[in-house]
Amino acid sequence: MKGRVIFNEDTCKGCGLCVNACPMKILALDLTRVNKIGYTPAHCFDMDKCIACTNCALMCPDSCITVERLDV
Ligand code: SF4
Ligand code: SF4
Repeated sequence: MKGRVIFNEDTCKGCGLCVNACPMKILALDLTRVNKIGYTPAHCFDMDKCIACTNCALMCPDSCITVERLDV
């Protein structure tokens, strides 16, 4: 199963819980950017490796993450 993660970046508080929850280790805080509420938002830097497990979305306390399952 392949997946695609979409972040609502403007509500991300940069807590890093999703980063630690991802078994594929493809999430990180983007330290080069600051969102509207003053935090460094999480992002995915290697989407091709996403397995759509949804761990990141389940872990996020602010419901910032949507996971799409791709039929490939
Ligand atoms: S769905 Fe799973 S593999 Fe994909 S980014 Fe989230 S935790 Fe990582
Ligand atoms: S768990 Fe949610 S709030 Fe925390 S860094 Fe990830 S996307 Fe942002």
